[in-house]
Amino acid sequence: MSRIEAPRDDETVTASSLVDRLLAGLPAEAVLTDPEVTVSYAHDMASFCPAGTPAVVVLPRTVEQVQHVMRTATELRVPVVPQGARTGLSGAANASEGCVVLSLTKMDRILEINPVDRVAVVEPGVVNATLSRAVGEHGLYYPPDPSSWETCTIGGNIGTASGGLCCVKYGVTAEYVLGLEVVLADGRLMSTGRRTAKGVAGYDLTRLFVGSEGSLGIVVRAVLGLRPKPPQQLVLAAEFASAADACDAVCRIMAGGHVPSLLELMDRTTVKAVNDFARMGLPETTEALLLAAFDTPDPAADLAALGALCAEAGATQVVPAEDAAESELLLQARRLSLTALEAVKGTTMIDDVCVPRSRLGEMLAGVERIAATYDLTIGLCAHAGDGNTHPTVCFDARDPDESRRARESFDEIMALGLELGGTITGEHGVGVLKKEWLAREIGPVGVEMQRAVKRVFDPLGILNPGKLF
Ligand SMILES: Cc1cc2nc3c(=O)[nH]c(=O)nc-3n(C[C@H](O)[C@H](O)[C@H](O)COP(=O)(O)OP(=O)(O)OC[C@H]3O[C@@H](n4cnc5c(N)ncnc54)[C@H](O)[C@@H]3O)c2cc1C
Repeated sequence: MSRIEAPRDDETVTASSLVDRLLAGLPAEAVLTDPEVTVSYAHDMASFCPAGTPAVVVLPRTVEQVQHVMRTATELRVPVVPQGARTGLSGAANASEGCVVLSLTKMDRILEINPVDRVAVVEPGVVNATLSRAVGEHGLYYPPDPSSWETCTIGGNIGTASGGLCCVKYGVTAEYVLGLEVVLADGRLMSTGRRTAKGVAGYDLTRLFVGSEGSLGIVVRAVLGLRPKPPQQLVLAAEFASAADACDAVCRIMAGGHVPSLLELMDRTTVKAVNDFARMGLPETTEALLLAAFDTPDPAADLAALGALCAEAGATQVVPAEDAAESELLLQARRLSLTALEAVKGTTMIDDVCVPRSRLGEMLAGVERIAATYDLTIGLCAHAGDGNTHPTVCFDARDPDESRRARESFDEIMALGLELGGTITGEHGVGVLKKEWLAREIGPVGVEMQRAVKRVFDPLGILNPGKLF
């Protein structure tokens, strides 16, 4: 019988007593104990981050069931790790030893779509793309669109404050979360925020929860802001003979006051990886491929102006997509980038450094230098319009020396990002992967205050322990 860490002084918690207590408020099918099954919930997509073995996995369907789980965990002092679809890239959803994995994937109902209030009310397990399509049928738009949108959940998007391709125009998840219902560590239910167009009543606890990586409470319901659905976007692909020229084009576009609906970059390694992975037929001779789009009433005219700026910056070729289908193909290629890079050597460490756009060129040059120093393949794709780069270290995890070099180069990339006035994570979060780096970015006082906030919400330290700090 496995033992759970950190029980109360007067009590030793065994896995079976925990399971019995959970079963008192959950149906049997919502409580998974078969180790062959529960082990598959141990990791998110950052599989090289350390993870413990869950004692049990629970899949509640109601708020009351989540409350029961948290009350039980509080009584028994058992850690709880909330999970969405486990597509996270920082180990933030990784199990801790002997924890209850609380998977919210069965709470997947869209409760309301209201075109007048322009809000959707959803449970946390709703998949991002499902919501996007559902609101689209009402002529509405939910912008945050991580490349993992076909699988990742709204709860996970809130947990990581995720971004995506459209953020350069529409912003990130935080801008769309108006209100939340949250089950606290002790099982109480708290409402934050609003469903109105405006509201400033008290501290903005909604915003605090966005990006809190499951460390402050369990999101069980979210009120999300929506926008009117924009016209279909049209995409342009511009090829450059150097990454520096592509970055120059990004600067010209932003300084010129343009507002593209996406502005993405793929370097030569990424382009080749995507072609090898999915036979997309992207131009492999180019050093950097810039994808830009407009969803304005006359996207062709806007793209022409943007194409001219690319040419001024030295683009060797500027090719607007012929129609929506071709545009979607180009976006698919971009969305496949991280998956395709993983196939290069079997394992990747995906950095997520965001720098001021004006420093993008220096960031890319630095990554190239680091790849050469460590003799590694580092593919780079970026939400270039946001300055958010994903230098992706491709390595063979079976090779200890290459793995060491991968880790060192990964860290050096973050150091470079901070040096350039950036942040260690633009959208993937801290999780386990970047714990030491959070302290470097926000300093000791920042860490102390964040820990104090954590203690207010989670005095026993049972919510997703070992993440962030
Ligand atoms: C191929 C690929 C492409 C990606 N592209 C992008 C991208 O473009 N932009 C981007 O931002 N990210 C991207 N990601 C990362 C990832 O998809 C996002 O971080 C996503 O938001 C995670 O959602 P999830 O449902 O998988 O959450 P999980 O990974 O399961 O969890 C993420 C965090 O949220 C917490 N959490 C989950 N549900 C709840 C809840 N109900 N209450 C409280 N906490 C909760 C977890 O504890 C964890 O800390 C990509 C990942 C992959 C694999």
